[in-house]
Amino acid sequence: MIGPLGAVVESVRPVRAEVAAAARKLAAEGLLVGTAGNISAVDPETEEVAVTATGVVLADCRPEDVTVVDRSGVVVEGKLAPTPELELHLSALVASGARAVVHTHAPYAVAVSSVATSLPVLHYRQILLGGHIRVAPHGTSGSVEQTAHVVDALRNRSAALIADHGAVTHGPTLAEAVEHALLLEWCCRLFWGASRERGAPPPVHAAFPPPHQRHTDPPEES
Ligand SMILES: [Zn+2]
Repeated sequence: MIGPLGAVVESVRPVRAEVAAAARKLAAEGLLVGTAGNISAVDPETEEVAVTATGVVLADCRPEDVTVVDRSGVVVEGKLAPTPELELHLSALVASGARAVVHTHAPYAVAVSSVATSLPVLHYRQILLGGHIRVAPHGTSGSVEQTAHVVDALRNRSAALIADHGAVTHGPTLAEAVEHALLLEWCCRLFWGASRERGAPPPVHAAFPPPHQRHTDPPEES
């Protein structure tokens, strides 16, 4: 494609621009800082996956900073290498049937992931994420083992935390995956604030898991 001044401009498909815009939005919201975190979305035209590239300052993410891979992770469009956490995205997309995945190192998510093994439901809006949120064990980022832990933590949920690391959300659209990331961070902030104010884990609504289950992963309930 030739640009207005005669320069060759890389043609990008819409999904790359959408992922770049989502990255800028979550950076503006404080969930993505510097180059930390990554976003993916399925291209409805090809079923390939557009994912943020490694080393990109996400607040400035451009469509060209988003790489397209096939479902086995082979790059099919873009000049930059995809995030090293690509396997997490591909596995989460397959396991959940979602169309987009967001991974952040959002500050309250990281804080909660460092002190709890589960995020209890304190507010009804968290039900939109599926209920209490599991914390996957810490592991080598991008490894097969770590990916398996996170995918397991995501079962029947659209969000999970990763111990001492961050958060993962997904959704049936990129917009919903982004909204889930914002909601999860809000829930983590709520939990953090309530716990600090009370000097102990806050009480949970009677409709939600009882206290003895709040910080552990209960037997599979759904
Ligand atoms: Zn990460």
